[in-house]
Amino acid sequence: MASLAQVLRGIVGDDRVLSRPEELFVYQCDGLTLHASDPSAIVFPRTREQVQAVVRACRSAGTPFVPRGAGTGLSGGALANDGAVVIECSRMNRILEVNAHDRTAVVEPGVINADLSRATAKHGLFYAPDPSSQLACTIGGNIAENSGGPHTLKYGTTTNHVLALELVLPDGELATLGSATGWCEGYDLVGAVVGSEGTLGVVTRATLRLSPIPEGVETLIAIFPDVVSACRCVSGIIESGLVPAALEIVDQRTIRAVEDSVYAAGLPRDAGAVLIVELDGPRVALSAQVERVREQADRNGASGVEVARDDAERQRFWRARKGAFGAMGRLAPDLYVHDAVVPRARLPEVLEAVCAIGDRYGLKLSNVFHAGDGNLHPNISFDRRDPDELARVLEAGSEILRTCVEAGGVITGEHGIGSEKREYMPLVFSEADLDAMKRLRATFDPDGVCNPGKIFPTTRFCAESNPKARGYDAVPLA
Ligand SMILES: Cc1cc2nc3c(=O)[nH]c(=O)nc-3n(C[C@H](O)[C@H](O)[C@H](O)COP(=O)(O)OP(=O)(O)OC[C@H]3O[C@@H](n4cnc5c(N)ncnc54)[C@H](O)[C@@H]3O)c2cc1C
Repeated sequence: MASLAQVLRGIVGDDRVLSRPEELFVYQCDGLTLHASDPSAIVFPRTREQVQAVVRACRSAGTPFVPRGAGTGLSGGALANDGAVVIECSRMNRILEVNAHDRTAVVEPGVINADLSRATAKHGLFYAPDPSSQLACTIGGNIAENSGGPHTLKYGTTTNHVLALELVLPDGELATLGSATGWCEGYDLVGAVVGSEGTLGVVTRATLRLSPIPEGVETLIAIFPDVVSACRCVSGIIESGLVPAALEIVDQRTIRAVEDSVYAAGLPRDAGAVLIVELDGPRVALSAQVERVREQADRNGASGVEVARDDAERQRFWRARKGAFGAMGRLAPDLYVHDAVVPRARLPEVLEAVCAIGDRYGLKLSNVFHAGDGNLHPNISFDRRDPDELARVLEAGSEILRTCVEAGGVITGEHGIGSEKREYMPLVFSEADLDAMKRLRATFDPDGVCNPGKIFPTTRFCAESNPKARGYDAVPLA
């Protein structure tokens, strides 16, 4: 009998299957290095037919499988639990069609996020969801995680930009969901697949909505003595009626790490926090909007506002923001990037509580986040070789999540549940909620072979921790 790896080689070719231990080691985890598990093989299909054949071969061998893009996920979503085969989609990376008339693109799942906007720029169009990892992450991964990014505030998350999907179902059949026009009859199954974290099948093609490149863009930074006043300014800007394209906060520890790194952008090292504001739209409207942002910055204690003079300066501001996680490598060997959302108006108090948790556990905690969405990223720099520090990191993380939920928030804004947060699901969902989600999943994957061990808690539900049981679902959203 041929081994599964041999069967897979027969489908995709000898050089497109990895199965030696040293090769598999690289695929043990994603961007969250705290969780790891061993895949039985990595396979790199190039076509949807190969994906179908790989899925069927795994089914015949009784081996689960997990779709994977670039592996930049931060919740352990692409981990190969139960000796799964990893179906690596990065070689399916063709942009198949750009329709400038309808403002749509048809792409394979391995297309790198930033490559799509590069390819469509000549048509005056761009793909709006822009995770900070956009130079590496794939559209397949973005769809699975319903990824956001700095421009989510104005343009929405991935789900607002996916019109139709082609999916290899866990039995190997091909399904087409949605339509290029965006109209669809019946249940919104595209909506169900976006954000399903690779548990409903392997996306092999996507029809995406493109947006017109705005006529004008103004990017500015406002310098604050502390994070809390920067958060107040965010609320003030929204209250004033503006909807900026982006509102991002970078705190002092992050500024210093960035300024010591290759991403250095000339941010003031002594600032408590910097707020990056991007405004876009018709050029004629922008200067008045910049003045309104200035007013809010002054009112909330900013010591200065700098407006980017040209595109190079604009890119420099963004390099500081998008390179922030990379720069953290200067602080410690490991980084735990948390992800939670709170009602925007509660950002100041939650940020204070989060920083106090970091101090109480004696940890190096920094914050760089999508403030306009209330989407926090408390980052803990640590060394996992120190068991005591690791234990404090995990306890602090748990407290941070609970603090966010108690403030009326949720446990992920964009990174997903994956392996990382499945035990926290009862904090926001009742047992009945989770059962309903499991039934939806079982409709696609009755045998639970596609990306097993993700999203759903493995331990018994704890009524004590259910926020609904404790009335947190009644906390107003603003
Ligand atoms: C430095 C850094 C910055 C980041 N910034 C952001 C940010 O601003 N916003 C944000 O949302 N995220 C961010 N992330 C997280 C991550 O980049 C996103 O979750 C991204 O969408 C993952 O894409 P990927 O191709 O790396 O997917 P992977 O990590 O390979 O996989 C992620 C999930 O997608 C599933 N999947 C992958 N391909 C397919 C497919 N073809 N069909 C079905 N399921 C599939 C996997 O099973 C897994 O569950 C950041 C990560 C890093 C390291």
